[in-house]
Amino acid sequence: MNFCVKCGVDCEETIRGLCIDCFLGDRTLTALPHHVDLETCASCGEFFIHDEWVEKEKIQAIEDAAIENLDILKEAEILEVTATSIIEQDTSNFAVTIGTSLKVGTVYTTDSATTSVRVKNSVCKKCSRQLGSYYESILQIRNGEKDLSYELKDETLSKVQRYVNYRAKTDKQLFITKTEIVVGGLDIYLSSIQLGRSLSKFLADEYCAVRTESPKLVGQTDDGQDMYRVTYLVRLPDYHVGDVVIFEKRYYKLTRVANVGAKMIDLLHFGDRSVKRQDMSNIKVYRKEQDFDEATVVSRMPGEIQVMNPSNYSMVDLRIPAGANIGEVVHVVDINEVLYYVP
Ligand SMILES: [Zn+2]
Ligand SMILES: [Zn+2]
Repeated sequence: MNFCVKCGVDCEETIRGLCIDCFLGDRTLTALPHHVDLETCASCGEFFIHDEWVEKEKIQAIEDAAIENLDILKEAEILEVTATSIIEQDTSNFAVTIGTSLKVGTVYTTDSATTSVRVKNSVCKKCSRQLGSYYESILQIRNGEKDLSYELKDETLSKVQRYVNYRAKTDKQLFITKTEIVVGGLDIYLSSIQLGRSLSKFLADEYCAVRTESPKLVGQTDDGQDMYRVTYLVRLPDYHVGDVVIFEKRYYKLTRVANVGAKMIDLLHFGDRSVKRQDMSNIKVYRKEQDFDEATVVSRMPGEIQVMNPSNYSMVDLRIPAGANIGEVVHVVDINEVLYYVP
């Protein structure tokens, strides 16, 4: 059995020679500074807490900033800590009371402390780079000799944006600095070399495109390392899914393109055919999908339809694949003055 050196009571437990009551006395259990500064990015609205920029509800950020600055008596064990009140004094000043449940020795107790959280405008690292047009790589999307069509600009740009948004979920340093429409295609400025590399590989696979990279020394970092910018060129092939193409002197509709090769449907018998990646350079575009003619359907029979030839209004019988869903009009192409149905 111990006793308290202050009040003399016999007790099981002493802290620094005192019984728990004498120890707690009017000792401060929890304390907050007069005010706490909370930085918020004026551009994206993120908050700087625990040495990093994070996306949070403002009220949660204010609570976290106060708790981060809470001083707790070192003999105490915290059981629970939470904001018991947050009062908005004006848009950037908040009176915050933090309530704490504690255990000191065998005694359970509670305490509260109050501070003023001041929300201050700042700019996070990512936004300051973005606002400063920071970039490490350029992705150039081109299309053979010709200018990139409006549809292809749209399609490639939305693929790029989806890819970068996905990657940015786990790495906030990844972003598109700017996008420029240039003669011949698109230039996309990117925040990192690694992003340029993986994105260009992704696009090259999607389109079976030719991909090249050219690094350029742009200076040195503060610690003397060479600093590079890398331009990744993705040159799209002339063909695109949906086009009618010529391969080994036969005509096909291109139905799929991937990094391993392509799939096509034969316009004569509607059989499937695969082409390996290394043979794809032999695929030639016969007619782009947007240049197909439309023919009005006059009658339908199994395996065959009759349409009006759009060029001379004569009636033509067209072979169709089994189970084809035929509407009012169908897509057709003329090959050596013969009309073909495009599935
Ligand atoms: Zn005592
Ligand atoms: Zn920001």
